[in-house]
Amino acid sequence: MIEWNDQQKMIRETVRKFVEAEIVPQLEELEHGDRPPYDVLRKMFKTFGMDELGGSRFDRQIAREEAGLTSKGEPQASKAEKKQPPSASDRADAAAMQLIPLIELSRFCPGMVTALGVSMGLTAASIMSKGTLEQKKRWARELLTLEKIGSWAITEPGSGSDAFGSMMSTARRTEDGGYLLNGNKTFITNGPYADTIVFICKLEEADVDPADRKVLTFVLDRGMEGLTQSRPLRKMGCHSSPTGELFLQDVKVDVDRLLGGSETGSGGRQGAKDTFSMERSGVAAMAYGIVDRCLELSVAYAKERVQFGKPIGEFQLIQDKLARMVVARMNIENMLFRFIESAGAGRGLSFAEASAMKLYSARAATEVALEAVQIHGGNGYMSEYQVEQLARDAKVLQIYAGTDEIQISAIARDLLAT
Ligand SMILES: Cc1cc2nc3c(=O)[nH]c(=O)nc-3n(C[C@H](O)[C@H](O)[C@H](O)COP(=O)(O)OP(=O)(O)OC[C@H]3O[C@@H](n4cnc5c(N)ncnc54)[C@H](O)[C@@H]3O)c2cc1C
Repeated sequence: MIEWNDQQKMIRETVRKFVEAEIVPQLEELEHGDRPPYDVLRKMFKTFGMDELGGSRFDRQIAREEAGLTSKGEPQASKAEKKQPPSASDRADAAAMQLIPLIELSRFCPGMVTALGVSMGLTAASIMSKGTLEQKKRWARELLTLEKIGSWAITEPGSGSDAFGSMMSTARRTEDGGYLLNGNKTFITNGPYADTIVFICKLEEADVDPADRKVLTFVLDRGMEGLTQSRPLRKMGCHSSPTGELFLQDVKVDVDRLLGGSETGSGGRQGAKDTFSMERSGVAAMAYGIVDRCLELSVAYAKERVQFGKPIGEFQLIQDKLARMVVARMNIENMLFRFIESAGAGRGLSFAEASAMKLYSARAATEVALEAVQIHGGNGYMSEYQVEQLARDAKVLQIYAGTDEIQISAIARDLLAT
């Protein structure tokens, strides 16, 4: 793949028009006010039929699983599915279609992608990949149609990069076969408003070193006794994505809330790691949107702003910045093409490849956005100019979904192991 095909270009154009008509006029309230992004996202889902599509895809999958459960309780592909597996181009198109809304939204509102990505890409996806049939029916459908909003909570005040090693949140077995959950989570996207929360903690096991204890995942509902969701935290950027804290004090749950239905099927460390991999690929699409928009704004400003009697675009130092932005955009776009082609080939990216893509694209987006501010001079530092917002928004790409330093460790581990 060396360029977007005609259909993909057309879809990009359609999504762009929606963003310009429906989101840009509300940008001030979304980015500088306290307006949560969910109604606008729901409108986007409705406009493009994404809610119905998500619901009907879910219904088909559940019907297949119900019809094809093996004796072990594992879902089996139906006969129809075996006869007609999706072609490589269908798989590639599906991957491209997932990325396009993320790219187009990120040109104006990367925070909205964060809110959407955590609700669908992390919360719903972890329930769909690790949950029992009952759990999928109970929670995932309404997340996939965006009727409900989800949070995925692993980070704690004392455990970020070392998410499992320093985790303090606990699940204690109770005599009636349930669990008592305790702990504090922080920096949780959608935390203040989430209806459904995926909560990751450690089983209290006597005689086992805390670092080695089993990791368990539970699904919680807003309003449960003992669960408190904080107000949104104040932060540097991505204001259209509410971030908060969760406090759990003796939250009593039955085993039907344990993801996978048993301590061994709960996903554990591997379940959370699979989720990290998905997140990393999505960040590159966000970075591409930010870089694309910064370049567009910077070229326009370089042509229009006159100093020393000529447009600043005629100065070589400004041209150098524009040229570097083009290189960054080409590199990220090529990485996205590789991601799409790999999905078409049915193999996906390895953990190290996804880390490399995230590392490069997050750094490039931050550098490009800061250079866009530089090209805009004093205006670039003013909120009236969009590059100011994009520079604040871009920085988080180097922090969440694994910091740059953690991506480097993942790449190096893979490199040195072979
Ligand atoms: C806006 C936002 C939204 C978020 N949303 C969510 C969410 O929805 N759910 C969730 O669970 N979490 C979420 N997070 C948390 C995010 O994943 C963590 O902030 C991130 O993993 C880093 O953890 P930390 O902040 O504790 O930093 P720390 O781990 O304390 O790191 C501090 C610094 O030390 C460096 N460092 C740490 N370990 C090493 C090492 N071994 N080698 C070299 N350097 C190292 C880091 O790279 C960093 O530079 C969000 C964060 C933000 C900012």
